[in-house]
This record gives sequence, structure tokens and C-alpha cells, in this order.
Amino acid sequence: MRAKNYNNQVASFTPLEPQHMVRVALVEGLKPKYDNGERQRYRRLLKDYTNVDESRIDKLFDVIRTEQRSGQQENFLNALVNDVAYDSGNWKSLDYEALKKEGVIIEHNGRLKSLAGLVQETDESKVIFVPSVGGRAVSPEDEPDYFKHIDWRSKLVLNGPDVVKRFALDNGIELPDNYLSNGRMTNEVLDLLEQNGFYFTEALKTAIEVLKQPEYKDRVITALAIKRKDGTELRLHPHDFLEAAEFYSYCLEHKANIIETLGNKLTQVGDKYHGANTFAVPKRIPFRRKGFNKVEFHYMPDIQEDGEHPLDWMSTRATCDCPHALNMRNFEERRGKTTRVVETMDTHANMVFLAMLKEKQIGISHAVNNMSPIPTEELSVFIDKTRYNLVQEFTVMEENSIKTKRTRVGEVNIEKIINELAKNPEWTFERMYYQPGKVGRRFLRQMYI
Ligand SMILES: [Zn+2]
Repeated sequence: MRAKNYNNQVASFTPLEPQHMVRVALVEGLKPKYDNGERQRYRRLLKDYTNVDESRIDKLFDVIRTEQRSGQQENFLNALVNDVAYDSGNWKSLDYEALKKEGVIIEHNGRLKSLAGLVQETDESKVIFVPSVGGRAVSPEDEPDYFKHIDWRSKLVLNGPDVVKRFALDNGIELPDNYLSNGRMTNEVLDLLEQNGFYFTEALKTAIEVLKQPEYKDRVITALAIKRKDGTELRLHPHDFLEAAEFYSYCLEHKANIIETLGNKLTQVGDKYHGANTFAVPKRIPFRRKGFNKVEFHYMPDIQEDGEHPLDWMSTRATCDCPHALNMRNFEERRGKTTRVVETMDTHANMVFLAMLKEKQIGISHAVNNMSPIPTEELSVFIDKTRYNLVQEFTVMEENSIKTKRTRVGEVNIEKIINELAKNPEWTFERMYYQPGKVGRRFLRQMYI
């Protein structure tokens, strides 16, 4: 993620609105990595769109270029950056049409096939405007509804036939005929998968290969799902994997611990209770003095290989009491009947896995059932561009007149784009998630410096 300075937790974790994104991009364009013509253009635009004294913008232009800055220059730069920060009061209103002509805003039709590539190659000094992302525009406030009713074609089931068959093919496993014809999970298939190490990580790795298959070319995937034996479902969203890694890094740095309130998973030895475990996980934006969310797990898998129940990830239940996760819980309709609750493993639940990796000192290469895989730096930068450099601009009818609405793209759309990226042959599991070594501060980038 990117934030001004991380001094203010609420501000750092509040998503940026379109005008903020353009403001950040305008300052970004002054950086020395861009060519001189471009830097000059951004300097001129900053003068046009802010009330900041022109000489201060010229100073900013000079100091931001200096790689080795003295302490005095550093303080000076911080003060200049505060003048033009996205939340400063010095900004005038933006003329989006003019900024399109200046090349700060790039317009795109929003079709997923080319959008993922465009996001990848676009600098952080530009903002991409699309009418919608791969379909109708979904405003962030409409997302819970959208996420509740996900069409089967928009889900990729990690233990479903497409992934299982591909895993069998890649590993020379012969699947029974009845499974090949009807795809219904049996104990016989489960035994085969267990013997061949079909851990969560292997399932995800295989799913990323499945996305590259021609049958998925035109499918817009918004969620990964795990089907449990009783027919219920746990949904996962790759975007949450990154949010979990970011907020967990932040918590480590600020000494905000995840506390296990039932069970002993977060200890070196701990796996005493196979059934339920509960955790208090810090909130990103504390609300009315309530600083923690309550996360509850059942059948949390053993992260490390050679655990007693390697396929527990297929039975895991995860719930969180934050409004977001509660809102996503839903009764699914199946053949006209209301069936059981669908759960979403959210950022807070994901963070428990990261805490467990740390407490048990499990290296990434042994973390076979880490259900919150840690994105690579490259994937994190890519996802950041969908959060800080991408805007939906569309028209709506309001009070009998047509109004232009601009919103950030929100999680549903970010999921679509990440899954579209995974269809690219070059974006393997390793490139997306496998980064050995310490997480450190690499997910908490500063915006301006
Ligand atoms: Zn939560």
C-alpha cells in the first residue's frame, strides 16, 4: 500500500477518492525517474492546480531530485510535500478533461483483457479512467451485494474438478472414472489427494495455472472458493492476501498484537484444540473505542507440512465480526432453495495465518497450508496501481439529469483485475506469491518520497 507517512492510522488505511489519486499522481510526476519534459509539465500543472507559492513548487522540483539529502533538506522536503499532499487544503478543483489532454489521465474502455496489461505498464504518475471494469460499474458502496451473489462462472473452486484434474495431470495421478465424469468429491479422491500432497498452496498454484487454460479466457473471476464436504463454501479474495500482509506489517511495527483468546495455535507447540480457535485482531480503523475484531476458526489447518490432517483447509471455517465480513455472510440459493451460509475469509482472518507463521517460525517454503499467501513485491505494486491509479468514470441519472460520477474501483473490480493478470502465462504462482525472506516494511511504501 501507499500512504503519506503512516503517522495517522485512520488516514493511512482510508482508501483514496478519485481527486486524491490525481493529486498524488501530479506530485509523483516530479520524481527524478521521469524524463525532464514530463517533470516540467507536472511542475506547471501543480502551479495551476494549487495555491502553493510558485517558488515553493520550484524548490520541491529541485529537492525531490536530490538522492542524497541532508537532514535540513529532508525537513524542508517534508514541509513542501505537506503543502501539496492529497489532503492539504491548497488544492483547487481539478479539470479532468484538461488533465486527459495533458496525459495525466489515460482513458481506457475498461475491457479486462487489456486493462490488466495497461495497469502493469502504467507509471504511478498517471491515473487510468475507465467507464467500468469488465462489465457494469460497481460503486464501492454496492459491493457487498455484488459479492453476496457470485455466479458460479465467476468463482474458481480450489478443490473443484478443474483444479483437481489439472493437479492430477501435472502429478501423474490417475483419478477414478466416476470423478472424471461427474466431478463429485469422494473419499477415494480425497485419499489420493492427501497422498500426493494437495496442500492449500498446491491448490492455489494449480488454480493459477487453470486460469491460463482456454476455458477461462472469457470468464471474469471475482472469488476463489473452497467447497466443503457438506456443500457449504468458504470464499477467498487475493486482494485480502495483500491487505492482510500490509496490516500485519503495520501491526508488527506498532506493536499491536494478535491475541489468541481460545486455543494455543499461536505458540511454538500449539495445536491442542483441533476444533475452535478464537483471536482478537486489531482493527484498521478503530470504531467507538472498539479496537479489535473477533476472528473464529474451526479446523484451521496445520500450516507446516507433515501435519496430521493435510486437507483440513478444505473444511476450514472462518468468521470475523467486523461489519465487512458480517455483511458478506449470506444464504446461498441453490436450485431455488435457500441453503447454508457462505462465509468469506476476510483480511482479519487472513492475518491470523501470518501471526502463526511468525510465532512458529515457519519459513515460506514449508508453509504448505498458509491460507494467506504473501504477495510478492511486484504483485503488491501492481495491486497498488488498481487502488491509487484507477478510477471509474460513468454517468448516472439523478433527479432527471445525467450526472458524471467518479469512484475508486473497489474490491470486486480489483479481484477481477488480479485474476485477469493471473491468466497471463508470465504471472505464475511464484511471481505472484512466492517471495522467500522477511516481509519487513516492503508493503508499506511512502507516497511522495
Ligand atoms: Zn474482519
